[in-house]
Amino acid sequence: METNSIETRKDKKSGPNFIHQIIEEDIRTNKYGGRVHTRFPPEPNGYLHIGHAKSICLNFGTAEKYNGLCNLRFDDTNPAKEETEYVESIKEDVRWLGFDWGEREYYASDYFERLYEYAVKLIKKGKAYICDMSAEEISTNRGTPSKPGIESPSRNRSVDENLTLFEQMRTGKFPDGSKVLRAKIDMASPNMHLRDPVIYRILHAEHHRTENKWCIYPMYDFAHGQSDSIERITHSICTLEFEVHRPLYDWFIRELEIYAPQQIEFARLNLTYTVMSKRKLLDLVQNGSVKGWDDPRMPTICGLRRRGYTPESLRAFSEKVGVAKRENVIDVALLEHCIREDLNKRAIRVMGVLNPLKVIITNYPEGVTENLTAINNPEDESMGTRQIPFSRDIYIEKEDFMENPPKQFFRLSPGNEVRLRYAYFIKCTDVVKNQNGEIIELHCTYDPASKGGKSPDGRVVKSTIHWISAHSALKAEILLYDRLFLKEAPDEVEEGKNFIGYINPDSLKIITGFVEPWLHDAKPESKYQFERLGYFCVDKDSSHEKLIFNRTVTLKDTWAKIIKKRIGK
Ligand code: ATP
Ligand code: MG
Repeated sequence: METNSIETRKDKKSGPNFIHQIIEEDIRTNKYGGRVHTRFPPEPNGYLHIGHAKSICLNFGTAEKYNGLCNLRFDDTNPAKEETEYVESIKEDVRWLGFDWGEREYYASDYFERLYEYAVKLIKKGKAYICDMSAEEISTNRGTPSKPGIESPSRNRSVDENLTLFEQMRTGKFPDGSKVLRAKIDMASPNMHLRDPVIYRILHAEHHRTENKWCIYPMYDFAHGQSDSIERITHSICTLEFEVHRPLYDWFIRELEIYAPQQIEFARLNLTYTVMSKRKLLDLVQNGSVKGWDDPRMPTICGLRRRGYTPESLRAFSEKVGVAKRENVIDVALLEHCIREDLNKRAIRVMGVLNPLKVIITNYPEGVTENLTAINNPEDESMGTRQIPFSRDIYIEKEDFMENPPKQFFRLSPGNEVRLRYAYFIKCTDVVKNQNGEIIELHCTYDPASKGGKSPDGRVVKSTIHWISAHSALKAEILLYDRLFLKEAPDEVEEGKNFIGYINPDSLKIITGFVEPWLHDAKPESKYQFERLGYFCVDKDSSHEKLIFNRTVTLKDTWAKIIKKRIGK
């Protein structure tokens, strides 16, 4: 795998990506009568993740770009693992990302009858047969890439016998696993997928849509390409692992003499410090490593949404990573960079104190509250200002005070003056400690002439810190997230280990902090920048009784730093 570089990213910006180049050429040559019709084909066996978001943006975005259409198709050929809950969540996530499939919501299961007829057609052409071998036997007899497979004893059954047996498979005469329908292609093909692949299996299982109508189900490979064909998809965009399946899909289309879409493969999205496969994500949910599919540490779309990611940020991310032909891993810092860029433009700034230290401003009148004006977003004047209460007792961040500071510490320390954001200059006069010698309170004086944080006489303070007025401070539960995995490539597991072993034990820290009082009415999913600390999003379970914030990201943009460093080089 290669790691992404800024250089390749820049190249991608300069023109259409390779998929769009193919499409533009097809439009030019009128290959599909100039039509562009894509689809997003999830299997409803889990919640969608950021990799799917990439695929959604690519498929729906491509259709939009070329005035085409994009279908939403559920590839629901595996009744054992699929559920309606997943179908609903997938629809919600696609919609939330900002895409619309109109009336075009399809299911591979809608085509079961048609696929059955296709299978019958292959049997009649002598291109498919019923095989009595078990899955294990089929697998051992398949050979290896360098060694041809062994033909099944059932391979030369007559067409009539095959038709009868297939019909009987359908009517439920045989138990699970006792027979399969296989395509009759080439047991010596260098492409293993062409060595008489199984195309239908017996499974007495209830399907989330067709219920008990069927007890035989087409394999994914026999359903996917044909579904694309039935829907008259022009460009079937899929991930690289299907490149080796393409000759098989082409074989089916040719033998069935049906409409042929163009399959184009691209590299799936991989992120550092993240696992992406649905199987692994399900494992995290089931073994309790996270609280659910929408746990804000999950790379699922609903998890990212709960964390505070916006659809715009995920679309921008998808655009920035581009499409690649080779496997690569994207730095998760790029994803974080995208949400910072978006929230920087739109999030209201507020003050929140995560680790409070009480400060008493001894020369400020007792029992008085004054309102000071704070700017909602310095990036966008139209977002206006708000009033914040100031009083004698305030909270500041513990980290913003040091009793014996080193030279480079410009924040509050005995005798040192700092600016309270939007308020006044204050100077520390006394440090109050408990019996254990821990600091419990500071005494400060303020300069009434520095109202609004403006220097009254040109004197300079080197630091501005945030604060909250103690009497009106609103308590909030704040969930601080860190990466879920400690290892950059948690998928690359050492022998005898499991990816679960790389989970960061400190990926979630829950604290109680204080925020500005007006946030009492903050709605779930609303997003704020806590000045100097990061972006925070109101959790969906937050209420008047208990205000809950998820930290989306800190303000430190390591990606911006990476860019600077590389360009400087
Ligand atoms: P996973 O391997 O994560 O379980 P999948 O490929 O089995 O995912 P599907 O529901 O089959 O999941 O995927 C739906 C679509 O999303 C497919 O077209 C697939 O190629 C695409 N897709 C899945 N994962 C990624 C990814 N990491 N990057 C880009 N596209 C992806
Ligand atoms: Mg899949």
